[in-house]
Amino acid sequence: MFTFRRAAFVAVGSEMLRADRVDTNSLLASRLLQRCGYALVEKRCVEDDAGAIARAVRELAARTDLVVVSGGLGPTADDVTREGVAQAMGVGLLRHDALVKALEARYRRAGRTIPEIALRMADVIEGAEILPNPQGTAPGQLVTLDAAALVLLPGVPRELEEIFTTHLLPRWGCGAAMKVRTLRLSGVYESQVEERVSPLYDRFGREAVTILAGRGVVDLVLMARGDHADARLAEMDEAFSAVAGDDLFGRGEVTLPAAILMLCRERGWKLATAESCTGGLAAAQLTSVAGSSDVFVGSVVAYANELKEERLGVPRRLLEEHGAVSQETAEAMARGALGLGAQVGLAITGIAGPGGGSEDKPVGTVHVAAMTPNAARHRRFRFPGDRTFVRECATNYALDLLRRTLRET
Ligand code: ATP
Repeated sequence: MFTFRRAAFVAVGSEMLRADRVDTNSLLASRLLQRCGYALVEKRCVEDDAGAIARAVRELAARTDLVVVSGGLGPTADDVTREGVAQAMGVGLLRHDALVKALEARYRRAGRTIPEIALRMADVIEGAEILPNPQGTAPGQLVTLDAAALVLLPGVPRELEEIFTTHLLPRWGCGAAMKVRTLRLSGVYESQVEERVSPLYDRFGREAVTILAGRGVVDLVLMARGDHADARLAEMDEAFSAVAGDDLFGRGEVTLPAAILMLCRERGWKLATAESCTGGLAAAQLTSVAGSSDVFVGSVVAYANELKEERLGVPRRLLEEHGAVSQETAEAMARGALGLGAQVGLAITGIAGPGGGSEDKPVGTVHVAAMTPNAARHRRFRFPGDRTFVRECATNYALDLLRRTLRET
């Protein structure tokens, strides 16, 4: 059965509690920790205050195997991570001679004398192991508190990553490293996926699977650890992809537009889109894939009805009878897209809101039509949420409909 060790992350820095800076080191740490068999179970941002750091570290060390603390190791008065962690452990700081000499030499090489305050970077928590930092000035430090390991790393991301990779990855058992495989699904809700895969939890372990959902695209992240990780992942892949069925569009880094372009390419078909409420989002996704030009010919963003008539040949009578947001208009727009010189057309028309809805066509109503030389499909959706959400869902669900239509033909 899959097991992992539990890690917590503390981002030190008052700036991350204001509106001007975002903690991204926790994401970096999560990725690095995963490579050595730790799962990040909690993260916090803490102000530049020794007492606050001590409290956070003490609490997290009591319930995890490892606490990673980033930032606050620099030379300025507000860099108090060393003091905070020493306080949590009930020990003192010792000024380390060799580190003082190295710091003095570093400043000398830059033509400066070291200010007294910068010598704080040579302060080491009693009993700590020093983790050299070739990219920067302040070294990392590794200590133990209760049964947990506690590692102090600089806030600068590349320094954090280098120390982690050089000193921590090797000792924390890459042999036990976690291997990951992502199954990518589209056109389904997270809850539907959860319901279908949950019977497999008994067999593989609940912690071996993470479901990440984002507006019509759901990732099933499968994890395995240890010597037989590859075989285990292959076994999991087989079981989970059987359950995913037609919703599965790819593995790993494959994106939905990339999968669509591949399906068109295999059939020797060109693709064009006609978009109203999404304003070109589908075209943007398709053209974000390198090499899309051999398949994707272009798009018409026809927001006004006049443009739907003029550029896509949607009959005025049809617009008047059924409205711009209707199955008939979506299908006529898709036919119009074929007129751009493609064998495959995708059209999206809807009401993104917040205004413009009516009783029979409320905000969030979207019609999508996909056409290939031997299949045509239409779907009507009703997406909840704000304008951005509706537009993003409309784009992803439209691309999904196109993918399914292509697979049928
Ligand atoms: P130094 O020794 O270089 O002063 P430090 O350990 O004192 O490093 P901080 O002063 O806290 O680190 O941060 C240095 C820089 O690193 C910040 O200006 C910021 O750009 C970046 N940084 C710090 N913490 C984070 C974080 N959690 N996520 C992303 N970037 C961060």
